[in-house]
Amino acid sequence: MPVLVMKFGGTSVANLDRIRRAAKRVGVEVAKGYDVIVIVSAMSGKTNELVGWVSETSPMFDAREYDAVVSSGENVTAGLMALTLQEMDVPARSWQGWQVPLRTTSAHSAARIEEIPTENLSSKFREGMRVAVVAGFQGVSPEGRITTLGRGGSDTTAVAFAAAFDAERCDIYTDVDGVYTTDPRITDKARKLDRIAFEEMLELASLGAKVLQTRSVELAMRYKVKLRVLSSFEEQSDSAGTLVCDEEEIMESKVVAGVAFSRDEAKMTLLSVADRPGIAATIFTALSEGGVNVDMIVQNISEEGRTDMTFSCPIDQVRRAEAALAKARSEKALNFSELVADTGVAKVSVVGIGMRSHTGVAAKMFQVLSAEGINIKVITTSEIKISVLIDRKYMELAVQALHDAFELEKAA
Ligand code: ASP
Ligand code: MG
Repeated sequence: MPVLVMKFGGTSVANLDRIRRAAKRVGVEVAKGYDVIVIVSAMSGKTNELVGWVSETSPMFDAREYDAVVSSGENVTAGLMALTLQEMDVPARSWQGWQVPLRTTSAHSAARIEEIPTENLSSKFREGMRVAVVAGFQGVSPEGRITTLGRGGSDTTAVAFAAAFDAERCDIYTDVDGVYTTDPRITDKARKLDRIAFEEMLELASLGAKVLQTRSVELAMRYKVKLRVLSSFEEQSDSAGTLVCDEEEIMESKVVAGVAFSRDEAKMTLLSVADRPGIAATIFTALSEGGVNVDMIVQNISEEGRTDMTFSCPIDQVRRAEAALAKARSEKALNFSELVADTGVAKVSVVGIGMRSHTGVAAKMFQVLSAEGINIKVITTSEIKISVLIDRKYMELAVQALHDAFELEKAA
């Protein structure tokens, strides 16, 4: 029988009533003839509570025990979902990560999936089980310990199962009804997209659109998993939500698909570093070893053998960046006159695969910002994205102006 993967996020399983509603949706797909793999998150708020308990107990916690605690929220919803389905006379069974087994690396709290053997679930399906309810977000390390896949990891669990079982589709049920051209809280002209290409979704997810964990999109793109994002609070229909798919499956797409933003950015500038081979390597090795996620990088023009180096990172990593660079300086690996942190910036990006074949998107973006009197501090581009750092106080204005200028409220 064809397999369907259905993933329910925390708000969709927030209480017994919602679990019942989700189970009804599963029942509809079973009645259509699908064998269904249901991936569940923890009830909303549960994972945060568990993380809080861990940090309160042990601020410098052992990541193996963090995983032991934090993975437990999904165990509860998996069992409850299986029971709910059984009450509806749907043959269902729950599975924790280790029972599948979903094998991962041993990078606790941020493990990567290595393998999902299909035998265990498949033989149960052959025996008449119609729904396998799998606890999302968790797996088992080569050492036999429980691991977790990083926050939002159930999305990745879902896509990985869809790939392993060659599912017809992977439906991600959440509390929004799809992927929007931008956050509807910033402009009411934001429009839900019927389809979006994997690469665009990947950019949007990594730029901070919270609908899907970035790794789940990477995985879907690699294995060509048809991914659909839809709300569990709306009427069930085959065309609901947003389909994340191959660009060939999108007939008519606009040059720009969406405007993304991230509020919590910091711009860091190292003044007067030597301009010679190895300096960038030293700086960014120190930052990486210090656990800083560097995003944009700009090296300025050099004068008399010295230059300024600017990079951006999440605002809550400024301290770490300062510490890492101070350490490199004290160890004499690096020499600079000053490190200047600007913590009042935001990143705004326009994304679209149409940029590959259309020129003038950057020019238009910069004109729009200039017409609003917004100063651009740093620019970076990729083939399908242009990002700028600007003063945070202009972020909403910038998003609205760009959304208007690229006419994103209108369908292609
Ligand atoms: N419950 C986990 C989290 O909140 C995983 C997930 O729901 O995707 O991060
Ligand atoms: Mg999520």
